[in-house]
Parts: sequence; C-alpha cells; structure tokens
Amino acid sequence: MTEMPSGFRGRIHRGTQQIGGTCVELEAGGERILIDLGLPLDADEVSETLLPDVAGLRSPDPALRAIVISHGHGDHWGLLPLCKPNVPLAMGAATARIMSAAAPFVPNFFAPDLSYELRDREPVEIGPFRITPYLVDHSAYDAYALLIEAEGRRLFYSGDIRAHGRKGALFERMVNDPPQGVDTMLMEGSSLGRLDEDARFPTESEIEAQLVESFTPPGFVAISASAQNIDRMVSIYRACKRTGRTLLLDLYAMQILKVTGNANLPAPGWPNLAVYVPEYQRRHIKRTERFDLLEPYKKARIYREYMTEIGDTAVMLFRPAMMHDVKAANLWPKARAVWSQWEGYLKDGPGAKLKSDLADLGVPFEAIHTSGHASIGDLKRLANAIAPKALVPIHTFEGDKFANFFQNVTRRADGEWWRV
Ligand SMILES: [Zn+2]
Ligand SMILES: [Zn+2]
Repeated sequence: MTEMPSGFRGRIHRGTQQIGGTCVELEAGGERILIDLGLPLDADEVSETLLPDVAGLRSPDPALRAIVISHGHGDHWGLLPLCKPNVPLAMGAATARIMSAAAPFVPNFFAPDLSYELRDREPVEIGPFRITPYLVDHSAYDAYALLIEAEGRRLFYSGDIRAHGRKGALFERMVNDPPQGVDTMLMEGSSLGRLDEDARFPTESEIEAQLVESFTPPGFVAISASAQNIDRMVSIYRACKRTGRTLLLDLYAMQILKVTGNANLPAPGWPNLAVYVPEYQRRHIKRTERFDLLEPYKKARIYREYMTEIGDTAVMLFRPAMMHDVKAANLWPKARAVWSQWEGYLKDGPGAKLKSDLADLGVPFEAIHTSGHASIGDLKRLANAIAPKALVPIHTFEGDKFANFFQNVTRRADGEWWRV
C-alpha cells in the first residue's frame, strides 16, 4: 500500500502516457470529483473493462459528487454511457446540446442531463471544490480549462487547448490574465512528438485561405471534416462564399450548428448554403420516425437532381456513407476530395478505405487541416503565464520530453495519488 496524501489530492487514471481516454480523480475531505471520463483513442469498442477504478462508477457512492467534462470530444467523455449510477454531470450547456443532437447520427452517443452548467469564469461549488471554468480555443466548441480550488490549494487543468483557431483571443486573454497561485497544473502535450519546437500550425484563417484556393477551379468538391469542428465549418462556409460555391450540409451538420445557439453560424436560409439529406439519413429517419428532424430544413433542402445540376459549383460535407449519393448524382467523374481532419485517421480503418476508394475512382485527394492542439511555443507561453509549482504532463505520448521545454515538470504515473 502506498501512503495516501491527505488534503487536496489527485490522481490521473489515464493520460500520463497517452492522448485520449483522459480521466482525473480529485479528492478533498473524503469527497471526490472526476474531471473527464474519456474513451481511449485506441479502444476498439466501448467496454466496461475500460472504466477506470473509481468508486462510484460501477455502483453508487455518494462521495463521488460529480463528473466534470471539459469538452465534447469522445476521448474526454466517451465512457460516460458505461457509468451505471446517476452521478451528477457538469459541462458547458452547448456541449450537452451538441452531444444530444449528435445522438441520432453517431454510434457511441450520450444525451447528458446536466446538474451543473460550466460558464466562462463563473465559479461552481461542488462539495469542497470550487471550479472556475475558462472558455478556451479548441477544435471542439464550448471547451474549458478548469481551475479547481480545495483546502486552500489550486489545481489548473488545461483541457485540450490551442491558440491558432478562431477563438485564439481566448488564449491570449488567459496568458495575459492567468489564474494566480496555481500549485499543480495538468497540461496537455498533444503536439510533442508531432511538431518541432519552433514550428507552428496554420491558423484557422490560413486554412480558410487554402480552402479558397482549393475551391477556385470548377468541379465538385467532397470535403471530409468533423461537423462538430465548428471553426472548420465556418472556414468551409466562408471559403464557399468567397468562391461563389454552394455548401451542401447534411442533417447532422445542420443540427449541430443549430444547437450551438450561436446566431453567427450558418443557418437555413443563409446564402451559399443548402441542405442535402443523404440516403442513409433518409432511411434512418424513416426507420426511427424522426420526421421532426427534417422539419426545420424544408425550405433549404435540395434533392439529387439539383445536386447534379449545381455539382460543378458545390462543396459537399462528405463522409464515407455518402459515396453512393455522389455516385447516383453522377458527380465523381469531375470531383476532387479534400481531407480536412487529422491525417492519422487515414492510416487505417474507414479513413484508409475512403482514400483507396477515391483513388480507385481517380478522384484527386488533398489534405487541408490544422491541429486542435497548441504548438510547443504556445504551450510554453501558457506554462510561463500560469507558472505552477508543479507542471504535470497529461494527454500526451511524450511526457518524458516535457522537461526539455517547461519548468517545474513533475512526472506522474497513471493511478498514482499525489498531493495538489
Ligand atoms: Zn483530447
Ligand atoms: Zn479535444
């Protein structure tokens, strides 16, 4: 038995050695909260054996006061469906709406019922914990870093964070006005090992410019991007406007945009935007009798014949289930494909299959993407601004390299208790 530190203590269940599956347990005065309950990225399926060893996840334990989810990526919430007891949940309200809206369209879904809403810089008290969320720039909408105070000590969790997206100003605000007196900082390091120390990622505006260039020659464009990457949806839409193209979005993407509640995002009736309901979604709606999902898009909806007609000036948000729709509209012969998400997804599975299917069809393939995670230079700015007494690597494959770039690095092992 290792001796358990008293006071405010914590342990990382997953994340000291990997990106994804993030879960941190915090304890003070005998009460506990979890920060994130993610699905490991290498998990083949959601299985109960993946649940971390936390009292209150398999059977009720009132000492587990809440699960706080930093943002809506599956590697931070994907094990929630396995949690049997009704543990109170905290996350951003838009994150919860996006997760619920995605439910009819994705395999591992979860429609959260919130006990607490995270709002930018509005502290929430849960038991002995005072949690202050900081809205951050990330490829997920409504993402937060978290300052957690208990027993006079302060822990800061970066969550997933970057500085080069459309909300980069939030990062600058944080480094200019950082939380003070942080004892322990858990900082993500996704970019370590993926990017050189002095290299930077393209900004989201630079991605928009690359898309404009890509969309300028005529011909149908099928673009693969996550509908939940709202920054990217905006870049694609703006590039369509700038090149006189029509963006074709499916029901899933339209629902996600709608439930953000953000009036500045593309909506039915906006120029250069049309809704196409692919065959697999039509069948799903029929089978589940969710005709309500079609209702808001009646006026903006287009059908296959019209898609063929405007094909040369259209950009379709594309996923492999739409291969047949594009074929039936006879659009592959003059089509190009743009991959606008992580290139790692092309190595195997559905991404690799798509790439080879497109090659068989003779469709040119181009990647235009930027990371959801900060460059090493930006992480240094963050670490210097917060200046924690201990900086603990998390959400990284390269925790051992942190000491090359940052001060006060303390390496922790998965499952090890430590004092905050
Ligand atoms: Zn993540
Ligand atoms: Zn993320």
